[in-house]
Amino acid sequence: MKALGIMGGTFDPIHYGHLVTAEAARYAFGLERVIFVPAAHPPHKEGRRISLTNDRYLMTVLATMTNPAFEVSQVEIERGGPSYTIETMRHFRSRHPEADLHFITGGDAILEICTWEQSPDLFKMCQFIAATRPGYPLGALEGLRETLGDAAFRRIHRLEVPALAISSSEIRRRVAAGQPVKYLLPESVENYITK
Ligand code: NAP
Repeated sequence: MKALGIMGGTFDPIHYGHLVTAEAARYAFGLERVIFVPAAHPPHKEGRRISLTNDRYLMTVLATMTNPAFEVSQVEIERGGPSYTIETMRHFRSRHPEADLHFITGGDAILEICTWEQSPDLFKMCQFIAATRPGYPLGALEGLRETLGDAAFRRIHRLEVPALAISSSEIRRRVAAGQPVKYLLPESVENYITK
């Protein structure tokens, strides 16, 4: 059975923390490919200002271009409406009925998974890779065991990624303050932001 990674995120902007996470997950879980899925309208960010979908999509394409195991999907952009992960995973399940699907995202996002649309069904459809930075309180994720039950909880895998010390919000803050962002994200993405 082939294993596929679906890398969900707002990617505002994409940075080396995301890229290292995807590559580490690919290696650790034997994923054949990692498909990046920029969220069009993240449901929990209604009313918050985020960069244009098209810009976030293009930056994701630029950032992933040099890795043959990485792809970018427009599924959430083309679908429109709130970017519910359940609908995205149904899309990939129908395209890859035999695949062992892994949804990769930040541990902080996974912490809220019980509030996601149809989350019990999500657990039937895929496993989760929760990327955390070193020093992240693992107890926080452990707290999900009681809420989700053992079977679902075992489908959440933690992946510690030192490069996740980099964050999109810190990059946005630095850009706004005119501070350098070199070496935090690919040069192509930095150039795109400057332009
Ligand atoms: P977020 O709340 O902006 O991010 C939470 C934390 O996770 C941040 O520290 C973020 O760092 C990190 N993170 C986000 N994506 C990551 C990734 N792919 N790899 C490593 N770290 C990552 O999360 P978000 O980006 O809006 O949402 C994450 C995913 O969950 C998206 O695909 C979203 O659609 C999905 N989601 C679905 C529902 C639902 O179905 N109802 C609800 C919420 C989220 P950075 O800021 O540096 O990225």
